[in-house]
Amino acid sequence: MDIPKTISTRVVIAGGGPAGMVCGFLLARAGIDVIVLEKHKDFFRDFRGDTVHPATLTAIHELGLLEEFRKIPHQELQDVAAEIEGVEYKAGDFRHLPGLAKFIALMPQWDFLNFLAEKAKVFPHFHLMMEAKAADLIEADGNVTGLIAETQDGALRIDADLVIGADGRHSTIREKAGFSPKDIGAPIDVLWLRLPRKQSDPEAVLGRVSAGLLFVMIDRGDYWQCAFVVPKGGFDKIKQNGIEAFRKRLAKAAGFAANRADAIESFDDVSLLTVTVDRLPQWAKPGLLCIGDSAHAMSPVGGVGINLAVQDAIATANLLWQPLANGKPVLADLNAVQARREFPVKVTQAVQVAIQNRIIAPALESAVPLKPPFVLKLLAAFPILRVIPAYAVGVGVRPEHIHSPDRTSA
Ligand SMILES: Cc1cc2nc3c(=O)[nH]c(=O)nc-3n(C[C@H](O)[C@H](O)[C@H](O)COP(=O)(O)OP(=O)(O)OC[C@H]3O[C@@H](n4cnc5c(N)ncnc54)[C@H](O)[C@@H]3O)c2cc1C
Repeated sequence: MDIPKTISTRVVIAGGGPAGMVCGFLLARAGIDVIVLEKHKDFFRDFRGDTVHPATLTAIHELGLLEEFRKIPHQELQDVAAEIEGVEYKAGDFRHLPGLAKFIALMPQWDFLNFLAEKAKVFPHFHLMMEAKAADLIEADGNVTGLIAETQDGALRIDADLVIGADGRHSTIREKAGFSPKDIGAPIDVLWLRLPRKQSDPEAVLGRVSAGLLFVMIDRGDYWQCAFVVPKGGFDKIKQNGIEAFRKRLAKAAGFAANRADAIESFDDVSLLTVTVDRLPQWAKPGLLCIGDSAHAMSPVGGVGINLAVQDAIATANLLWQPLANGKPVLADLNAVQARREFPVKVTQAVQVAIQNRIIAPALESAVPLKPPFVLKLLAAFPILRVIPAYAVGVGVRPEHIHSPDRTSA
């Protein structure tokens, strides 16, 4: 390939999702020159998760940005409930969490990413390139020394002391690095669709479970963003049965919004999100580090993937800003990020897989009415216990705090 243009920076990050944007923000704030590449032209995409968890909100607070963040339209979810066969069970209560943030912020992810981009662009060392796709790595003597990006102006070579792969579950970077993830397996996929919302509708996130159905509705103001969970590969069968049969199932799942199933005119209104759970055995090689879903694709169970991606980004900045300030980080510096983050990832994935395999998959296959799991009955009887699932989901294992400095005014 002819590469007419070459630029250089200290760190080039592939992917402007939660991991890439937070990492770019923090490194630029610490005075390290960073380019973040995002292959799309904006952040406005439907298939992103919409949850900003207490651990991430705490980090936003540590940056002094929580007040401004809360001015962006969002809902604050203080408890979560599941409706099983028509009966509501309160499952988690965030009001008793330690710290400032006692809620999950439900905010379209593009608003969160735009907020980060807006705040980061005042840093002289932050550079965001939209419509720039990381296509290949540049390696010399076993060291990654940069990457090739495909941009609107053609191919661009970016030389850097460190390449960070934050390009999600289908990461090009990890593939080009020769990394192959261990597939942990997911028996489910998600169909993503919209239903109209009325002013009189309830406000919260609604998870509804009954025999053969698992449906989640997220309030996005004038519409409901809906996730219809199906067995892996189940969308083909649904399509074979035709749109009318699907609308009937949807109406059954959608409860109070049943009469709006006609809003789905054809399968073009339904996107298939393939669920993957995997993990790289090795997140780094000389000159390269993978973080977020690129290092460990998360299941949607618990909606914790964004939080983990953000925690990886915070740990990366905490551990690498100093080595970067001194020069090129060595492999041991990069491995320290994996050493810090691998345990929370493993624990979280183990819980997600257990819920997928023991609760969700059997519920989807069941033809008889479901009984609530014992743990939900226990949480119903002892409300104080609801802080435990709230902590597990909202804060999680080994939450990170920002230790990388603000050197923008230095
Ligand atoms: C169906 C489903 C629903 C989910 N719902 C939730 C939820 O509600 N809450 C939650 O916390 N988590 C949820 N998750 C998990 C969550 O989406 C991920 O864990 C999280 O987005 C990971 O963040 P990331 O920054 O690592 O990767 P991503 O969010 O995937 O971001 C990667 C970015 O890189 C860009 N990119 C990709 N390739 C390239 C390239 N070659 N060059 C440049 N840019 C590139 C992409 O466009 C994207 O912007 C869900 C997952 C699934 C599958």
